[in-house]
Order: sequence, then structure tokens, then C-alpha cells
Amino acid sequence: MVRKATSLFDSDESRQLPLEIPRDQHTFSRKNISPNALKVLYRLNEAGFDAYLVGGCIRDHLIGIEPKDFDVVTNATPEEAHALFSNSRLIGRRFKLVHVTYGREIIEVSTFRANTAAQQPAEPEQQKSLKNKDTARSSHGIILRDNVYGSIEEDAERRDFSFNALYYNIADFSINDYCGGLADIEKRQIRIIGDPRQRYQEDPVRMLRAIRFAAKLNFSIEAETAAPIKEMAHLLDHIPPARLFEEVLKLLGSGNGVETFKLLREYGLFKYLFPDTDALLKSGWQRKDIDPEAFIMQGLLNTDERIQSGRSTAPYFLYAILLWPSVALRHEEFEKQGLPELPALHQAATMVLDNQVAATAIPRRFSTPMREIWDLQFRLPKRYGKRAFTLLQHPRFRAAYDFLLIREQSGTNLGGLGEWWSNFQQAPENQQRDLINKADERKADDAPKAKRRRPRRRRSSNAKRSQEQ
Ligand code: ATP
Ligand code: MG
Repeated sequence: MVRKATSLFDSDESRQLPLEIPRDQHTFSRKNISPNALKVLYRLNEAGFDAYLVGGCIRDHLIGIEPKDFDVVTNATPEEAHALFSNSRLIGRRFKLVHVTYGREIIEVSTFRANTAAQQPAEPEQQKSLKNKDTARSSHGIILRDNVYGSIEEDAERRDFSFNALYYNIADFSINDYCGGLADIEKRQIRIIGDPRQRYQEDPVRMLRAIRFAAKLNFSIEAETAAPIKEMAHLLDHIPPARLFEEVLKLLGSGNGVETFKLLREYGLFKYLFPDTDALLKSGWQRKDIDPEAFIMQGLLNTDERIQSGRSTAPYFLYAILLWPSVALRHEEFEKQGLPELPALHQAATMVLDNQVAATAIPRRFSTPMREIWDLQFRLPKRYGKRAFTLLQHPRFRAAYDFLLIREQSGTNLGGLGEWWSNFQQAPENQQRDLINKADERKADDAPKAKRRRPRRRRSSNAKRSQEQ
């Protein structure tokens, strides 16, 4: 039986669940909902289906954060929901759901599901169940498919944390709490639904989500929810690298990167996302021109500030930051083996990227700009002649310049290089030439050796001669 609450945060510890908070007892109203999500809710409801908002949007609103996206759940099957919206698509294999598209906004509609996979024994990998096409678990107990539909109560139980199992009913505008999410919001704590070990076994990404919410909401992780994480962190090895890549972007690229990074390391999870970086940080390796920990912290801090002030950040920039200390270490090793500066860098970048994609798959459209940012760190000091103007035109100049500033901010002395480039970008053309001349004088030792230039000159005079002939 559903108990009606008299206030949103009812201080009675023994309150029974589920708890229904009527419309006049809470502040979540239609004004807080995206008009498109409302359209979807009403259309489903008018067609005779139950329709609720669930998850992040209710949680964030109750905590005082502007909701980001609106997830709809219903008792309509994906096919039934799809049939109601001409602007919708059926998607997903692991979880079948419907995307309703309004311009750039996508409203996700999923069907109430039951966690029946949890009750099934895990199967050996080679027999990965073709018998049951709706649910399946891997030999490690990880849920591979979960498409058995159920009641709203069952749907609540298969969600990850109590505060993510709050439902807003469009039929009467009430909020329904099935797993004690309201009490946990009051305590500012993250509590996993059900047995923590079993829930992490089913989906190890839930460990990462606990950390993400702890950093984002500034909540503590309830003791039993936190207890098994260190010991079970290794299960992340069984998650497809492409899924982990996406999780890393949400973890470190959502405006709370510094705090998330600290928590990931504290809980022993960082190792499974960035194995090389983790090993390097643990080894305490440092060099005059790089303090890996200070550099990564500075990079995350700058990214957080950018996001919090509404500016954009690129995934490749974040990854370039996290892998730079490993690149610097490998670069040194290749140079010791006798490779010149740039070939050593290219080898180092290849090695680091190859190791990283085994943990979190980095799409090529991101690894190419990462290489360019690293490469430019070695080219930005060389500003002689026309080079500075050419570098300014490089499509990755801006990112490489920001990267360079982060290196300096983290304590690396680059002889005022960041300031030089700041001035150069702002100066009118005649003053730009002065800046280049000054850099030429100051860095005469650094200038490309005459020996290295000679063959090029010869080639160009040959070319001239052949043109004259
Ligand atoms: P945000 O969008 O702010 O990151 P969210 O809670 O909306 O937070 P989503 O990833 O959008 O997070 O997921 C929507 C909902 O789906 C969650 O609130 C939760 O109820 C459920 N969910 C997501 N991932 C899992 C998971 N791995 N295990 C169980 N439930 C999950
Ligand atoms: Mg969401």
C-alpha cells in the first residue's frame, strides 16, 4: 500500500515505503520540466499508459541543481511508445529504448524493467545465452542484456542508487519514493539499492557512478555502499573499453574533475581507467620540467573552471592532459635510446595511446588532436623567422597554447613562453616582428643549427636552378 506523506522530508525514520508525496507537498512542478518532456509524458498518458519522470531530474531538482535531462519511464513497451511518436527511434541492444527527438533535444523513453538477470546463474562465456534473448549475464556475472519488462516497483529496484529511484507521476503530479531516496537526500548520502556486492557484480560501472555523484553532489557514500568498492574495482577490467571511455568523459569532464580524480584514486578505481598514469603517479616519478600530479590537478582545475563558467571543453584535451606525464616519461626513454626529439615523441605517443585504448577506447578523431597538442609543445618554443605565424594558423594552436599555460601554471619553467605567446597573439603585426626578433636574440642558442638547415637551402637553390633552366 502506498503511504501518503504530509511533507517532503518527513523526519520519521521508520517511514514505510513506497512513499507518495502529493503535488502540494513538493516543489517539483511542470515549470521545472522541459516542454518536450511534458509533451511526451502527456501523449503517453493520453494513450492510456502510465508515464513518469525518473532519475537525475527529480534528484537534482530536490538538491537544488538545475536538471540537465529528463528521462521518461512508462509501462508502454518500446514498440508501443515508438508507435505514438513519429519523431522517435527504437534504439539499444543491452537496453531497448525509444528516443523522441525535438530539434537538438532528445527525450529518452524506457519501459519499466525487472531485474530478472540478477536471479539467473552466470553462464560460461562460450554459452552466452542464445536460449534467452531478453536477459544474459557474462561469466563474471555482469548483466549483458536486461530486457524483461516489469512493474514500477521492480523498475525502482533495478536502478542504481536510492535517489535515482524517485518517480514523478504525470497523472497526479506526485513524487513516488520506492527505495528511501528522499531520506538519503536529506542525509546527503549515496546509497546503492539492494546488496552492494551483488549490484557491483551485475554492473561494475555503478562503482564509478557512486564516485561521480559523490563529487557532483558533494554527498558522502554510505558505509555499506562504499565498503566493497576497493576490493571489487578490478571488475572494471571486464567492461568494454568504449563504455569506459564514455564514463571517463562524464567523470572528469563534467565540472567536478578535481574532486572526482581524488575519489577515483582513493577508491582504487583510477588504475582501471588510466593504468599507465596510475603507475607513474604511484612511482613518484618527477622531472625538473614536470610534476605529474601537479600538472594533472592543474589541468583538471582549468577544465572544471571552464565548464563551470559555461565554456566548452574537448574530450581530446582532457585525455591529452591525463596522458602527458606518461608521454614525457616514454619520450625521455626513447631519446636515451638515441632517437631525435620528434621521432622519440611520436614513438612515445604511439606507445602511450596503444596502452590506453586497451583500458578506455579513444576514437581516432580524438587521438589525432591529442598527438597534435603534444607535438606542438615541442614546436611552440621555436618561433624564429616565419614559424610563429605558421604556428598561429595551426588548427590545434589554441588548444596547444592552453595546454602550455597549464604546464606553466603547474610549476614548469618555460622561460616565459606562455606570456610570449599571449603577447604575440594580441600584438599588431609590426610589434609581432619585434617579439620574434627579441625571442631570436634571447634564444640564439636554441635556434635550429645551421648544419640542419643547409640541406634544405641546397634543395631550394637546386629547385631555383631547375626552374631557371
Ligand atoms: P546525470 O544525467 O546527472 O548524469 P542520471 O541519474 O540521470 O544523472 P543517467 O546516466 O542519465 O544518470 O541515468 C538515468 C537513470 O538510469 C539513473 O537515474 C538511474 O536510475 C538509472 N541508471 C543509469 N545507469 C544505471 C546503472 N548502471 N545501473 C542501474 N541503474 C542505472
Ligand atoms: Mg540523466
